[in-house]
Amino acid sequence: MDIPRIFTITESAHRIHNPFTPEKLDTLGAALRLEPGTRVLDLGSGSGEMLCTFARDYGIAGVGVDMSPLFTEQARRRAEELGVANRVTFVHGDAVGYVADKKVGVAACLGATWIGGGVGGTIELLAKSLDTGGITLIGEPYWRQLPPTEDVARECDAGSISDFLMLPDLLAFFDDLDYDVVEMVLADQDSWDRYEAAKWLTMRRWLEANPDDDFKEEVRAALTREPKRYATYTREFLGWGVFALMAR
Ligand code: SAH
Repeated sequence: MDIPRIFTITESAHRIHNPFTPEKLDTLGAALRLEPGTRVLDLGSGSGEMLCTFARDYGIAGVGVDMSPLFTEQARRRAEELGVANRVTFVHGDAVGYVADKKVGVAACLGATWIGGGVGGTIELLAKSLDTGGITLIGEPYWRQLPPTEDVARECDAGSISDFLMLPDLLAFFDDLDYDVVEMVLADQDSWDRYEAAKWLTMRRWLEANPDDDFKEEVRAALTREPKRYATYTREFLGWGVFALMAR
C-alpha cells in the first residue's frame, strides 16, 4: 500500500509535508496549551514531525497513521532521533475509517482531509476517537483570492474552485457544523515557499542520481514547470491553515 510515487520523490527530503515551517508548527503546539500525557491521534501523519516535536516539547503521547511506507519509516526514525520513540507510534496503513482504541485529547488531520471524504467527513471521523471536550485539528487550504476561472483553480492543483472556500467561509463552515473555532495558525507565502520550493532541489538531485529511471521525464517536466506555475498561481491564490475546533 503506497501513495503515488511522485510525492515520495518530490517530498522525500521534507519533514513537514504541508506549507508550515518548523516555527509555525511550534506556534501551533504552544497555541494548543497541551498538557503532558495528552493522547494525540494524527491521520495522514506523514513523516511524523508534529507528533515527534509535540512529544519532545509537550510530553504528549501519539499515534500517527499514514499510507506511505517511506514517510512512516522516516517518522519512526525521527522519533528515535528526538528520543520520543517510547511515546509515539507510527502505523503504516490506510487511515480511512480509522478510529483510536482509546479516546484521545487531540485528533488531527493536517493536509489529508480526503481521508474522511472532505473537511466535514474528516471532522466526523476524528470525533469518533475524541474524548469529550477534546480538540479537533484540521489542516486545510482556503482561497486567499477567489480564482477568476476554473483553469486558474486547476493551476493551483485544485480540482475546481468549489474544492476550497475563502477563509471567512471556511470558519463559517466549522460554525455550521456546531464547532467553536478555538485557535488557528495560518501559513503565509514564505512558509508556502518552504513547502513548494524545497521540492525543486529534491527533484534536481533526484534527476542527477536517477538518470535511467522510468520516472525521469515526469520529474524533469515538473522541475521545469513548477517554479513558474507555483509563483503565478498557488503562491498568490491559495492559503493554508490549521484550525483547532471544539464541539459545542
Ligand atoms: N500531516 C502530514 C502529512 C501531510 S501530506 C504533515 O503535515 O506533514 C498528506 C499525507 O497523507 C501523506 O503523508 C500521505 O502519505 C498521507 N495519506 C494519503 N492518503 C492516505 C490514506 N488514505 N491514509 C493514510 N494516509 C494517507
